[in-house]
Amino acid sequence: MIDFKKLTAHCKEYGFIYQSSEIYDGLAAVYDYGPYGTLLKNSIREYWWKSMVQMHENIVGIDAAIFMHPKVWKASGHVDAFNDPLIDNKDSKRRYRADQLIEDAIDKLLAKADKEVEKAKKRFGDSFDEKLYRETNPRVSGYLQKANDINRRMNEALNAGDMAALKALIEELGIADPETGSKNWTDVRQFNLMFSTQLSNIAGEEGKLYLRPETAQGIFVNFLNVKNTTRQKLPFGIAQVGKAFRNEIVARQFIFRMREFEQMEMQFFIKPGTQQEWYEYWKDVRLKWHLALGTDPAKLRFHDHENLAHYADAAVDIQFEFPFGFKELEGIHSRTDFDLRSHQELSGKKLQYFDPETNESYIPYVIETSIGLDRMFLATLSNALIEEDLGEGNSRDVLRLHPALAPVKCAVLPLKRNEDSIVEKARGIFNQLKFSFNTQYDDTGSIGKLYRRQDAIGTPYCVTVDFQTLEDNTVTLRERDSMQQERVPIDRLEQIIGDRVEMKNLFRV
Ligand code: ATP
Repeated sequence: MIDFKKLTAHCKEYGFIYQSSEIYDGLAAVYDYGPYGTLLKNSIREYWWKSMVQMHENIVGIDAAIFMHPKVWKASGHVDAFNDPLIDNKDSKRRYRADQLIEDAIDKLLAKADKEVEKAKKRFGDSFDEKLYRETNPRVSGYLQKANDINRRMNEALNAGDMAALKALIEELGIADPETGSKNWTDVRQFNLMFSTQLSNIAGEEGKLYLRPETAQGIFVNFLNVKNTTRQKLPFGIAQVGKAFRNEIVARQFIFRMREFEQMEMQFFIKPGTQQEWYEYWKDVRLKWHLALGTDPAKLRFHDHENLAHYADAAVDIQFEFPFGFKELEGIHSRTDFDLRSHQELSGKKLQYFDPETNESYIPYVIETSIGLDRMFLATLSNALIEEDLGEGNSRDVLRLHPALAPVKCAVLPLKRNEDSIVEKARGIFNQLKFSFNTQYDDTGSIGKLYRRQDAIGTPYCVTVDFQTLEDNTVTLRERDSMQQERVPIDRLEQIIGDRVEMKNLFRV
């Protein structure tokens, strides 16, 4: 597992991600994508989009505006309920999410239990029965029971919106400010995460607009438009990729939690009563989407929600093992008819589907898949970046990205940059390959340095042009992961590389 600090440094050094407004010391939890970051982000977006829209005849895509009528956010529940419990430390003036402080305390108890189990494992060797030990060892089961109990009480308080109960839990557990150790806390209060702005021509509340906190509502309010203009029959899906904004209270984990980010969401409209079946279907499809990239299955897991959102009758996260532990990467939610029904009530427009098979009209149910593009970017990089030991004190940083996602597919490198005939030949190859895929010409260093640089940005293929090329029109083709080199004719490059970097390889696994 790559060190998180190393990963963030790599992102900056190689032009993947910069802090926003860095020359003014940055803006917290807002980031810009650099040249390679933009290309990688585009590839991930394309992979998602094609897997939804191109690969399913019953899924179509839209691109709704960020601004929406303010009533949308009333109907969706965001004005009243899109809150996080906020707590301030009076001494340090630091601000925290009360639920996250409690979750950290739970994690500490679980870690204590794990430590006991590890010790026992060493002591008992092969005959060790971990499950039995967890259930019967008084110390371990004590930690686990306490963790469970706190978790239950926290979820009850969150579901009931009982801020005083959260504060009481924090005091009872003796939770201190993680930075300073102070226990001098304010009361817990609800904090709405939506950013707002004001229309120029309408004063007061009436003209208050929100920056959308999720892309999903743009899909719900267009349900009728899409149904009527595409003649889709249930079940069918609407996909969308776009910016979302959340005024996150604690946003300290690089692009994991940002205030401005991009979501890739798909709402799948189904007949009421079939939600269990489609929920399982989408869980399966989405896990396969991640695995197709070559991600180690041990780094992905499902995590059922205990604290269900107001709109859901079932919800699961796909968690990924980031350098700072298993965290949510994607959510799959069975949203019932909550959203369409609320919009129908508030707008007075019928948002229903006439089922020709049963001759009845109903509000469809919805299964949603929702993944953060930036979070997927972070998962992809954490998965790909490796510091590889090459022996004899040498090492290299290599981004083992799936070739279909790599920002640059092929780099054309002249063996001697002062030799005009070689440079000219190399530029000729670059000018030929650039029509088929993203190619880079680079003559800014020795061949060894150029290879290392391409490894660090994840380029799957390097083409080296040398004196022999001038004689027989062959080049050295070097593969990133194996570092193996083979001699191939120039006129075969386009096909060899093209075949291996095509996105369709991801859909065929
Ligand atoms: P979390 O519990 O981490 O705050 P959430 O449950 O609020 O996330 P959803 O509302 O389900 O998240 O959003 C769907 C997806 O959008 C998440 O799985 C995540 O990938 C992404 N996402 C949500 N909030 C952020 C954020 N602040 N920055 C980056 N990505 C985000």
